[in-house]
Amino acid sequence: MAWSGGCYCGAVTWSCAAEPTRNLVCHCEDCRRALSAPMMASLGFPKDHVQWSGEIRHFHSSPEADRGFCGTCGSRLYFASKRWPDEQFIMASTLADHSAYWVTKHVVTDEMVPWVHLKNVIPGTGFDKTPEDA
Ligand SMILES: [Zn+2]
Ligand SMILES: [Zn+2]
Repeated sequence: MAWSGGCYCGAVTWSCAAEPTRNLVCHCEDCRRALSAPMMASLGFPKDHVQWSGEIRHFHSSPEADRGFCGTCGSRLYFASKRWPDEQFIMASTLADHSAYWVTKHVVTDEMVPWVHLKNVIPGTGFDKTPEDA
């Protein structure tokens, strides 16, 4: 299927015909601060298959990480890192249609904010317990 989405104001849109490489939720402090949100849900895509339109601004949150956002409305669009040079992680919040998206893994859960209690338990992924069970 073709995936697509865009920023809040519509100035930037994206599409990708390839399937996601992984659908992660990251709880690290860098992602939280970059998004002003308690966690970052993303779809990893093969970088060369993602089509963008519109003007993207960039913030280098670390020497190896690049985060794109819309300069008009401020919506975060993607995360990329030299650690995973062939992937671009697009913010799941920008999806036009959420019906086909599902998180497959939570990462850096040791940095998760204490008031977040996850309900989308994912058997077999290492995240099959609520924080209370741990
Ligand atoms: Zn925008
Ligand atoms: Zn992170």
